Amino acid sequence: AKMVYYFGKTKTEGKGVSKAVLGGKGLNLAEMTNIGLPVPPGFTITTEVCDMYYKGGKKLPKTLLEEVGKHIATLEKELKKKFGDDKNPLLVSVRSGAAVSMPGMMNTILNLGLTDTSVVGLANATNNERFAYDAYRRLINMFGDVVMGMDHHSFEEAFSKIKLKYGVTQDTEVPSQGMIELCEAYKAVYKKETGEDFPQDPLKQLELSIEAVFKSWNTSRAVRYREVENIRGLLGTAVNVQSMVYGNMGDDSGTGVAFTRNPSNGENKFYGEFLINAQGEDVVAGIRTPQPVAEMSKWNRAVYKQLLEIKDTLETHYKDVQDIEFTIEKGDLFMLQTRNGKRTGAAAVKIACDMVKEGLIDEPTALSRIPANDLTQLLLPSFDPAAKSAATVLTRGLPASPGAAVGALAFTAEEAVLRTQAGEKVLLVRKETSPEDIDGMHSAAGILTSTGGMTSHAAVVARGWGRCCVAGAGEIEIDAKAKKIKVGGKTYGAKDILSLDGSTGEVMLGTVATTEPKLSGDFAKVMKWADEYRTLGIRTNSDTPADSQRARDFGAEGIGLCRTEHMFFEDERIGIMREMILAEDEETRRKALGRLLPFQRKDFVGIFTAMKGLPVTVRLLDPPLHEFLPHDSKAQAEIAKEIGTTAAKVSSRVAQLHESNPMLGHRGCRLSVTYPEILEMQVTAIVEAAIECKKKRVDAQPEIMIPLVGTAAELKLLREKAEETIEKVKTESKFSGDLPILIGTMIEIPRAALTADEVAEYAEFFSFGTNDLTQMTFGYSRDDINTFLPDYLSKEILPVDPFQSLDTSGVGQLVEMGVNKGRSTRNKLKVGICGEHGGDPASIDFCHRVGLDYVSCSPFRVPIARLAAAQAAI
Ligand code: PEP
Ligand code: MG
Repeated sequence: AKMVYYFGKTKTEGKGVSKAVLGGKGLNLAEMTNIGLPVPPGFTITTEVCDMYYKGGKKLPKTLLEEVGKHIATLEKELKKKFGDDKNPLLVSVRSGAAVSMPGMMNTILNLGLTDTSVVGLANATNNERFAYDAYRRLINMFGDVVMGMDHHSFEEAFSKIKLKYGVTQDTEVPSQGMIELCEAYKAVYKKETGEDFPQDPLKQLELSIEAVFKSWNTSRAVRYREVENIRGLLGTAVNVQSMVYGNMGDDSGTGVAFTRNPSNGENKFYGEFLINAQGEDVVAGIRTPQPVAEMSKWNRAVYKQLLEIKDTLETHYKDVQDIEFTIEKGDLFMLQTRNGKRTGAAAVKIACDMVKEGLIDEPTALSRIPANDLTQLLLPSFDPAAKSAATVLTRGLPASPGAAVGALAFTAEEAVLRTQAGEKVLLVRKETSPEDIDGMHSAAGILTSTGGMTSHAAVVARGWGRCCVAGAGEIEIDAKAKKIKVGGKTYGAKDILSLDGSTGEVMLGTVATTEPKLSGDFAKVMKWADEYRTLGIRTNSDTPADSQRARDFGAEGIGLCRTEHMFFEDERIGIMREMILAEDEETRRKALGRLLPFQRKDFVGIFTAMKGLPVTVRLLDPPLHEFLPHDSKAQAEIAKEIGTTAAKVSSRVAQLHESNPMLGHRGCRLSVTYPEILEMQVTAIVEAAIECKKKRVDAQPEIMIPLVGTAAELKLLREKAEETIEKVKTESKFSGDLPILIGTMIEIPRAALTADEVAEYAEFFSFGTNDLTQMTFGYSRDDINTFLPDYLSKEILPVDPFQSLDTSGVGQLVEMGVNKGRSTRNKLKVGICGEHGGDPASIDFCHRVGLDYVSCSPFRVPIARLAAAQAAI
């Protein structure tokens, strides 16, 4: 396979090559070159070469260097410069670029090609000796750090000495002669630490750098980032070798990063930052706080105008928001990168709607542009305006990523992780975040930094995750060692709680109350489009009237799973429930059930009323009974007292209910087989509640769902019992109206899926309980998988947690078989899913493909499911 692709005036070879091969950066450099934008020429080494490098025992493929040499020659010809030349030397940057962007995770080397000889050439060619030696010392430093893994410290010491010698404090104040001496000092440091001379052959520098980029693919931070972001199945990183342009050649040069639209709120306004007389890394690393890009017209009107034109060209070409990097070298603008811009959920929605309005994209494209999971961010709380106006604002930073975060202060990533794991809500407070902080940023409720701009790593990463972030709050002095911050003359420590408003940048003292979000017009529009395109129904898992109402507001078309056991845990009821379980004979049990009945009925009336006109699938009692009893003797003694029995009896019943594998034990429909009176009570409550509603002209549409069925015979027996009970209640309450009640089952046991044709004879609907179905198909305990899941993910035994995203190739087969076999006996069989997977976009896509009628998920995921269902249908 072709290993290297050129881009430049001479030729651009990357057209039509996939992103998987060229990487995102490489592909876009080729594309920008193709559409005539000013891109410094260069070439891309493919991700396949990275794969070969690892497969070949970390060795570069033999012919690679020859290929690279040829491409350098083309570059030399095009630019009329020569590698290592003492007159007009070619200098290149070497950057990573995987198919999926991993901001700041991998290595970059700039100014490559500088040697003792070519630095003289650069000084002559630019007529700027100081600049040339400054570039050289940066190369030695970067090369030492990145390629040779040297300690940054030793270079810093050498720099301090030079500054001392010349009596200056700022790097920029060091004169030309000082820079020359610094290069000598750096080379000495390099030799001392590596035992080798700094390489004076540019091709050797290039070879080592390419290898270093490949190596950086597997550093722990890069691996961790891919884990967190669920990036899997990539070959590796590509390497982009590109001729250098300089933003630090004086006050007519500069560099910047921008988004074609605001990635935080979606506004159609050019959004970004630039620094005069600086190199690109200075902006993204967040070391200097840059100026807004709108200020650029004051500095160089023509360049600003050209940049605005390029912005439009890029949006028209890519039909999406672009995140760009550019450099101005002595008044000439160059594009260094473009990629689709990461944006918040709110921005994604607004941008999608705006682009439809602008005629740039159509509705299906707009829908497919919004990552369904990101809608969560729009549904999250924000600060209550009243509470906020009363709050003490300590300071204000940049509104880097919206949201409302409240937490105590954590000063290192590690601390943030540990304290979050211990159940605390923390804010990660850092001067500037570096890629090593990834873990802590992910754990923390919010991120606060004292330096860095809107496009710093912290901001970009936080926005991608929808994590609240306030960046560049410069008034805050952070003392990470002492675990303290100082702001407004006061000091706050690890125990103090602050509130961050990521939409305004405010940092407030204490806990500020939050409120539920108000959904914008654009959100409603997206939901409306989604409803037009989707064919799957969307229901919700809910067992309270309040949740049901919320889900309905979010667009749920029914309840797909009402877990009745949740209703028995409340105060008064749990006592009666325990009496029922502890009863020694059926009569006592029935008495207790009789007292539970009114509670159940009232719950159902509430839920049916909230969901009036929409179906409500009520699942009969499911968990093993021991879950309702305490396991310590003190609590057991208390219960005994309450219900007038002995502690010994209680503890003997608990012992009797003990099971070695309770999830495979006496639960689900098995309970109703042993204790039909439980089923009777629940069905009675359902029917009575429905009748009560009907009398109030509330259209109740209950469906009775029998859980954990494994054989048709189980269902047959229980169905008959349920039907009998329905008739009995109807007769007793003299109800003669129309009250159709469907009876169906959950498919949670592989055997039920395998014999779905038989099961369907007794079921009017199936609902796949994919939590249990996954548990039983893999044989993984759903409650304990975290003991080994991390190993399974890191060793790539599993691509994702199968309890979060449906294992389509294994468990999915059972689902598909269940659907087909079920419908073979009963072609009108209604089929849904109510396991956690019902709210997961990838699983929803599968559900759509195998012909389910609906998915059911938690209320907050309903909008996500609506969008994902539309995306599946498009
Ligand atoms: C399931 O097993 O997928 C299900 C929805 O039931 P539960 O989670 O209550 O076991
Ligand atoms: Mg289940």
